[in-house]
Order: sequence, then C-alpha cells, then structure tokens
Amino acid sequence: MRYLFTERCGGVSEGAFSTLNLALHVNDNALHVKENRDILREKIGARAVVFMEQVHKDAVVVVEHEAMNPTCDAMITNQKGIALAVMVADCLPLLMYDPIHEAIGVAHAGREGSKQGIGVKCVEAMMHHFGTEVKEVRVMMGPCIGACCYEVGKEVTQGFESVLHVKNERLFLDLLTYNLNTFAAMGILDENIERSTVCTCCDERYFSYRREKTTGRFAGVICL
Ligand SMILES: [Zn+2]
Repeated sequence: MRYLFTERCGGVSEGAFSTLNLALHVNDNALHVKENRDILREKIGARAVVFMEQVHKDAVVVVEHEAMNPTCDAMITNQKGIALAVMVADCLPLLMYDPIHEAIGVAHAGREGSKQGIGVKCVEAMMHHFGTEVKEVRVMMGPCIGACCYEVGKEVTQGFESVLHVKNERLFLDLLTYNLNTFAAMGILDENIERSTVCTCCDERYFSYRREKTTGRFAGVICL
C-alpha cells in the first residue's frame, strides 16, 4: 500500500491554480489538469487514478475498474494498481487501509459529509464488501481547515456542538476532531489513526477555498 497527500507544488497549472491543481471543475485549463493527474499517477506508481465527482453527500462506491468516475464522496476497492483519489481545498481528506484483507478507501469529509458520517460509512462499506474488521482499519487524515480559521454561521452548527469553539462571540468548527470522535465511537483504535496538524487556510503550501475562493484542489491518494 502506498499513499500520499499532494501540496500545491510540482504541477503545470498557472495563476490561481498553480501548480498541481487536480480538479477539472474549477475552470482551470483541462490540459494542465490532465498533465497534473498524470504526474500524480506516476508519483503514486499506479496504473490509473480514479477520481470522484464529489457532491457533499454520503454515497460510497465500489471501484471495480479504472475507467470509473463515480459521483459520490467515498470509494473503496481491493483492486491492485488502481489508486483512489479524494480532492480537497479545506475539506478533510480521509484515507483508509485494511492490511489484513488488502482493501482501501477514500472519503471527502467536508461539513456536510462529516455530518452524514461519510468516513464511518466508508469503513462500513469495506466491512460489508471485503470483510474488514474495525480494529484492523488504519485511517490517514490529511490536511484540512483548522478550528483556527473555520468560522461558521450559527445556522450550520447543529450536530457539531461538541466541537465548536467560541472566540469573541464568533463560532469556529473543529472538523478534524469531529471526525476523530466519530471514528473513536465506531471502535477504530486511536493508535491506528494518523492525523495531520496542518491548517490548509493558514499554510500556503495547500490550496484553500476559504483563503482564496478561486483556487485549485489538492488530493489524498492511496493505492494497493
Ligand atoms: Zn488556520
């Protein structure tokens, strides 16, 4: 198993998308994105990289061949050589690995997806399809917007009460801790969870929608 989280550098896109933008839906030059995706494929050493059309919902798709481009926010596979990618710019990218049954998963955990339990649903799909057991699951949580920067309106805080911070009467949401808590509640062992402490909005090595609005997407990628 190999995995990585990309940064902004190392690609061919220009301007707001410079340089390793991996998303086609942000009005970057499609030829540049294609080249960037090839760079990523070589870097992870995969035959193909499967991307999702991400829609902030909770569907999990089983990837059976490399020509797929599913509309969903999580994917799983046990196919060797096919990398799975999740694109983000502040949302939390989640990678899962079951070393016993040799299966992997990715999930796109923004506020909506997190609330709908997309990470837990991805692991449950691995359990259902590949016989994964919860105590065997490794989770890699990539860089996302931190509670330092993720200010939210009161109208979207329902369900997130346990991870809200109040500063000067403003509300800040801790997306990472929310997801950590849902994995802990599911029985995933803390020692099996790796987490990034980087805030994408603070750290300019990453694309950040909150900081830049017009921007690219970086990715979490995993491959058997
Ligand atoms: Zn920050």
